[in-house]
Amino acid sequence: MSTQQEGTIIKVSGPLVVAKGMSTAKMNEIVYVSEQRLLGEVISLDGDNASIQVYEETGGIGPGEPVYLTGQTLSVELGPGLLENFYDGIQRPLQLIEKESGAFIARGIHVPGIDRERKWDFKPVVNSGDSVAEGDVLGEVQETTLINHRIMVPVGISGKVTEIHSGDKKVEDVVAVIEDEHGKNHKITMLQKWPIRIPRKDGGKRVPNEPLITGTRILDTLFPLAKGGAGCIPGPFGAGKTVTQQTVAKYCDAEVIVYVGCGERGNEMTDVLMEFPELKDPNTGEPLMKRTILIANTSNMPVAAREASVYTGMTIAEYYRDMGYNVALMADSTSRWAEAMREMSGRLEEMPGEEGYPAYLGSRTAGFYERAGAVKCLGSGDRKGSLTVIGAVSPPGGDLSEPVTQNTLRVTKVFWGLDANLARRRHFPAINWLSSYSLYDENVAGHWKKEVADDSIDVRNDAMRLLQEEAKLEEIVRLVGMDALSPKERLVLETAKSIREEFLFQNAFDAEDAYTSLTKQYWMLKIIMTIYYSAQDIVEQEDFDFDEFKKLPVMEKVVKSKEIEDGKWEAFEVLAKEVASTIQSLKK
Ligand code: ADP
Repeated sequence: MSTQQEGTIIKVSGPLVVAKGMSTAKMNEIVYVSEQRLLGEVISLDGDNASIQVYEETGGIGPGEPVYLTGQTLSVELGPGLLENFYDGIQRPLQLIEKESGAFIARGIHVPGIDRERKWDFKPVVNSGDSVAEGDVLGEVQETTLINHRIMVPVGISGKVTEIHSGDKKVEDVVAVIEDEHGKNHKITMLQKWPIRIPRKDGGKRVPNEPLITGTRILDTLFPLAKGGAGCIPGPFGAGKTVTQQTVAKYCDAEVIVYVGCGERGNEMTDVLMEFPELKDPNTGEPLMKRTILIANTSNMPVAAREASVYTGMTIAEYYRDMGYNVALMADSTSRWAEAMREMSGRLEEMPGEEGYPAYLGSRTAGFYERAGAVKCLGSGDRKGSLTVIGAVSPPGGDLSEPVTQNTLRVTKVFWGLDANLARRRHFPAINWLSSYSLYDENVAGHWKKEVADDSIDVRNDAMRLLQEEAKLEEIVRLVGMDALSPKERLVLETAKSIREEFLFQNAFDAEDAYTSLTKQYWMLKIIMTIYYSAQDIVEQEDFDFDEFKKLPVMEKVVKSKEIEDGKWEAFEVLAKEVASTIQSLKK
């Protein structure tokens, strides 16, 4: 990066540096602070003075030292070589940095986000003479065994391809030349840059109506997230935010995963860093990292880098969406991101809003989640992509009325509410089925009916209703005892209990149980609900004995239905019939 004109530091306050002589600086411009050349970003301008958010430790830096302008905005590098990488919040590859400077990142180290030396076999899909527009695919490289990386015409360029070069190329080699309508030649490389705070352009939004299949039963069946949707997981400490995010990252059917660990407890991110490279993609058997990019803020990075990390992740995620992939971005935890914002705002002496958060917390939060979406990709083809965003929120003391949770709930359409009581009772995932919701349930109903079963939505709605009734009935039982219930009400309680214990309960650490396909989810629930449907009249018969009923041998089979292998739908069907006929045979 070439550096121009110098400003001078007049004040240093933690990650905030104020400099004078900055009249030519622009908002969000990247600057280098002091002779150590620490990376910073201009976040406010006031005449000749600029406030700079510094992404590295500022200890030892003081007034009088220089600030160098670059004329560039904080951007990420995009191109082959992103996948399988671990980055910090400003896209420095952690493995490379470790090699250069040891376990702790030395200050002022500038390592490019994408390897310049590695060669990729570029396979053109256009010919010389073809007309192309922004977003069109020029060619492809096999980035990993799972992902074919599409090299697209950068935004703002269109015209005629005058040169196209196949074969082994480094990311900075010219792979194509495009002549625009003014006769100007644009050299295209596989390396592009994009400013992280500006959403990438798409070709128009689509209605998100495909479910993001996670394999977690309570999520897929009861509170589905659509591909291109936005969801949040609020929960107090220890309720399962990280486990849920990681389980979704491991098993969901997005093709590319971007996992942002923004300053959550350091050791958790270490878990991810250690564990992910070992994991295999259940859909393909390939290592999970082949479709994953991890962004981690190590604990010795300053608060400002957390603020940037969610945007770095988002921009990378949008780039793969633009290629036509389904991408999922997990941010854990966005509360740390908001706290970083609060800290910077405080240092800037801005007028504080609720609980000291800046007044723009709401608009920043909305701006972040609004980058999710199912889109038609930019370009003339009919590529479609999606970007699903799942943000964990850690409200202090589990108080959902605090500003970060409230602002998040306003813009996300799925709420997976973790419940400390359930976690304490070791009911996992500790997602509260009464308070959680999804506004995509109607969007994805078509998929369930077409791909799973005609009655899948009815079964799900009935189960949902029983869980709600259960809560009311439990209240009655608490007040006046079980005897006050009618046999049918008792049946509701028994069924709801089965739904909770056999269907909703799912152990993320059990290789067999961690993932359930949609069709298996349907069958497991259908079998439990068959008891309910078939026993309606039976329970009202005189002398009906619930304890005897629960001891029927077929009930044992229902409990074990989760052991029936995926794909053995006939076995489920046979069991459903057996349940119905056994119960019917009790009819007097
Ligand atoms: P948080 O991120 O909300 O602080 P964690 O995700 O670290 O909480 O979860 C805390 C603990 O709860 C985990 O270490 C694990 O023992 C347990 N747990 C959470 N979710 C599950 C799950 N789906 N299956 C099994 N255990 C879980």
